Amino acid sequence: MTEIRLHDTMARDKRAFAPADPERVTMYVCGPTVYNRAHIGNARPAVVFDVLSRLLRHVYGADKVVYARNVTDVDDKIIDAARAEGVEPAAITRRYEDFYLADMGALGVRPPDVAPKATETVVEMVSMIARLIEAGHAYEADGHVLFHVPSDPDYGALGRRDREAMIAGARVEVASYKKDPADFVLWKPSAQGVIGWDSPWGRGRPGWHIECSAMIERHLGRTIDIHGGGLDLIFPHHENELAQSRCAHQGTPLARYWVHNGFLSMAGSEKMSKSLGNVVTVGELLEQGHKGETLRLALLSAHYRQPLEWSDQLVAQSKATLDRLYRAAGDAEGGDVDVGVLSALCDDLNTPLALSRLSAVEDPAVLRASGRLLGLLATSSSGWFQGEGDGRIDALVAARAEAKRDRDFAEADRIRAELAGEGIVLEDGPQGTTWRRA
Ligand code: AMP
Ligand code: ZN
Repeated sequence: MTEIRLHDTMARDKRAFAPADPERVTMYVCGPTVYNRAHIGNARPAVVFDVLSRLLRHVYGADKVVYARNVTDVDDKIIDAARAEGVEPAAITRRYEDFYLADMGALGVRPPDVAPKATETVVEMVSMIARLIEAGHAYEADGHVLFHVPSDPDYGALGRRDREAMIAGARVEVASYKKDPADFVLWKPSAQGVIGWDSPWGRGRPGWHIECSAMIERHLGRTIDIHGGGLDLIFPHHENELAQSRCAHQGTPLARYWVHNGFLSMAGSEKMSKSLGNVVTVGELLEQGHKGETLRLALLSAHYRQPLEWSDQLVAQSKATLDRLYRAAGDAEGGDVDVGVLSALCDDLNTPLALSRLSAVEDPAVLRASGRLLGLLATSSSGWFQGEGDGRIDALVAARAEAKRDRDFAEADRIRAELAGEGIVLEDGPQGTTWRRA
């Protein structure tokens, strides 16, 4: 069998990957908190772990892999967003979960096998918290339940920070009810009118970390093969998940391999993040007319552990590469995966090497099959080139609508004529304007 090697954050090293049970390979990746549109940095883990799931299915069998990615649908940011709009939290989470699935789908990310929601896992969370209290790893104080960090001698193994750095890095509130400043929240009280559930500790809601531990236990088991997410999740989120699960399971480790992706930044700027305001969303990029597959290739152009600088030039290069690959693949189907491409992916998901080897594949059918392993060359070549310029057409249709709104009918007619010259027919209806090729 082809050997996969993965960089394991716990070991600080690349290790040969061997699942506990090759008949059921389990992977869990922390998913989105659904209260806003995903930016292109958020899409990086989704695409990276989609490639890893495709590789695992290729090596172990399509039905031998269980990939779970959660949806965090109870959180203070969701509660704030709901309050700001005057709607129920569920209206916010439904809307942004739909956007997330559509955006990731456009990037060729397959839905995971299991997508548990926090609000549907509260019973399991309450049960795990109760077990942690019973085992002396958690305590109730002032309506909260806290995990007591000093009760776990192995705490800190994943992030390997010293105690001061952990307390500073976690930005944990130094609240009077805490026995230790590093203790973190498992359960907190909900005020009246705020989403909450009855529990042995009163009406409240879970802290963030406990949901992943409870979901993994419920859907995948005590120990999973691979736990993934972005680098920023190592501490405190994964450290806390690990501590909760290990302490609830008499020392059984949570994951056998920990895999973390590096950050995407805007060219010349820091890590892309909402709080820094240097964000471009997947939705915006698609509206600009970029194809999802172009964005996917751009995300895979750097090794997943390396930083990735996002720029217009990167997107343009990725588009040119895909044009070339689609031209070379033609309408061929049914080939085998190229061994060079496969071995590059097996070496800790070396996508830059896999892409350069993909470009050198001569047999169109092998090229197609190898591209598919990366989630690329997904459509037919004729489909790829036919869709050419759709984004520009959409933009012209929008410009015409704006001209009409401004009663600039000359400009609106000019745009209609320009498109007609290219064989594009516009149809105005009550929902707006649609277009088709004549
Ligand atoms: P969040 O919504 O901030 O919890 O992020 C969701 C996922 O995206 C997590 O796995 C983060 O680690 C990851 N992530 C957030 N920002 C970036 C970024 N700029 N580059 C790469 N991954 C990111
Ligand atoms: Zn998690």
